[in-house]
Amino acid sequence: MCGIVGITTNGNAIEILFPTLQRLEYRGYDSAGVAVLADGNIKIVKKQGKISDLISEVAKSNFPRYAKVVIGHTRWATHGAPSDENAHPHSDCKSKIAVVHNGIIENYLELKRRLIPKHNFRSETDTEVIAHLIEENLELGSGDFESAFLNSVSQLEGAFAIAAITSYASGKIMCARRKAPLVIGMLNSGFVVSSDVPSLIPITDKIVPLEDGEIAIIEPNNFTIRKGEVLVKREAVSIALDVQKAEKGGYKYFMQKEIFEQPKVVEDTISAFLSQWDEIAFPPYKKIIVTACGTSYHAGLLGKLWLETIAKENVEVDYASELRYKDKDFSDSLVVAISQSGETADTLESVRIAKEGGAKLVAVVNILGSTLSREADIVLHTNAGPEIGVAATKTFISQLTVLFLLSLKLGGLRKDSHLVSELRRISEKIDKVLRKADSIESVAKEVAEFRNALYLGRWVSFPVSLEGALKLKEIAYIHAEAYPSGEMKHGPLALVSPEMVAVFVMPKDRVFKKNISNLKEVTARGGKAISVVTEGMDKEVEGSWRVLQTPETLEILTPFVTTPVLQLLAYYAADYLGYNIDQPRNLAKSVTVE
Ligand code: GLU
Repeated sequence: MCGIVGITTNGNAIEILFPTLQRLEYRGYDSAGVAVLADGNIKIVKKQGKISDLISEVAKSNFPRYAKVVIGHTRWATHGAPSDENAHPHSDCKSKIAVVHNGIIENYLELKRRLIPKHNFRSETDTEVIAHLIEENLELGSGDFESAFLNSVSQLEGAFAIAAITSYASGKIMCARRKAPLVIGMLNSGFVVSSDVPSLIPITDKIVPLEDGEIAIIEPNNFTIRKGEVLVKREAVSIALDVQKAEKGGYKYFMQKEIFEQPKVVEDTISAFLSQWDEIAFPPYKKIIVTACGTSYHAGLLGKLWLETIAKENVEVDYASELRYKDKDFSDSLVVAISQSGETADTLESVRIAKEGGAKLVAVVNILGSTLSREADIVLHTNAGPEIGVAATKTFISQLTVLFLLSLKLGGLRKDSHLVSELRRISEKIDKVLRKADSIESVAKEVAEFRNALYLGRWVSFPVSLEGALKLKEIAYIHAEAYPSGEMKHGPLALVSPEMVAVFVMPKDRVFKKNISNLKEVTARGGKAISVVTEGMDKEVEGSWRVLQTPETLEILTPFVTTPVLQLLAYYAADYLGYNIDQPRNLAKSVTVE
């Protein structure tokens, strides 16, 4: 969600600026802008729409082609509509300061009311107050820009990451981080600051993460980090993310590539977990609380089922956005927080509260070095590589892999148990599903004609149904709801008609026969049922409008083979409808605001 870039170098910062901004596009945005310090003046170009629109605008303008200090931004609007005026960077009255910001300034109205008599505001954003506040503090104080910046940040409330440049201190980029991501990357000459690690992959492999509440000043030849009055010493860490993995490699969309990477991702995640197996030691606890948002929450629901079934644990699962407002007793609990980016605002806040309440934290996370991974007592890496498509796919499968292995570990099973062997065979079975993508594609084109869909499943297939419905909503913009099949008679059956497609996720398992009864209830009322079944079970689901088959596996492992079917169903429906699959409207990859 939103992206910040800042570059200060002895070379040409412009060359790195636009490609880095483009690598932040996947996070979701509606407008973009850049500011440069050239000949002692700030020059800003900003535009609603895509980075390509911004680049055309820059080409038409007298924006310099060479500069040593720049900042750039992709905006995901929270305060004020997406528009040229509201796009970042924002500046002060004299246009001597340019600010980009991710997050929300919660006391912006109060500050704006105070500043407005003397300051000329040009946008509806909360961000603009930062520029005017720095300007005010500069006038009130000794005229020192760093002190004015520090003083201004201390007056802000909310969650934010900020980068600012000014003609009063050329060469410097001032950065602040409070509950929103920001990392420093080391360049051959100079430094870059960005909202995420993947955006830096092609230009550096050394980063310096910033912690909450820290201020950083980067200059071409050095950087300083401070927390309040205290100077922080921090070494750079190496990041090992493969550039190749962040390119499309012949696929039409990143999402398609990421779906097809899943067999390999499962193998990598299993290897990484098993290599840690003997070292992972859990502190004593009485219950497990799983917390996450979106797709990760669906992984959490499956994690609960596995932890209960295999490890006989006491498990609760809660949306992080709900958990953070419950006065829950976290003592003696193990909190398992799941997040692809490790920067999800609600998840971070929930775990902070849980830790204060005495919980121990296990992070299931894809980006090492992220805030969540740094705050955790135990880190379980999902090893999926960079995921660029906004709709999560391979990271979901890798989360499932970690949660399944976690259940085995907590259940006291050995790493040579038959369940581990079965899991090791699963990537071959996922591959088999993917090889039948053509048949899924033809059904998907038919699904694209509907405006409403029901996803139905029981037991382990219920969270899979939730995830399948979410994919269809996210990228194909088709209204889809998931229910446990047994709940149909309690209400949703009233919706069934020939205009409703019903996707039954019903592999061969302990509830297969129960699902057959639900399927009959739907087909008897004219509903069009697509049954996702285990190979050879097609004859059992007569009356289905379409049937898609998956390879046989243990009933408890079926989510690994049914999920890719639903991912492809949504993917091909969205592709048929001609949507921009990697960047669905209104959505962001890493949700860094509440
Ligand atoms: N709240 C700011 C705005 O609406 C920043 C949004 C963002 O994170 O992109 O402009």
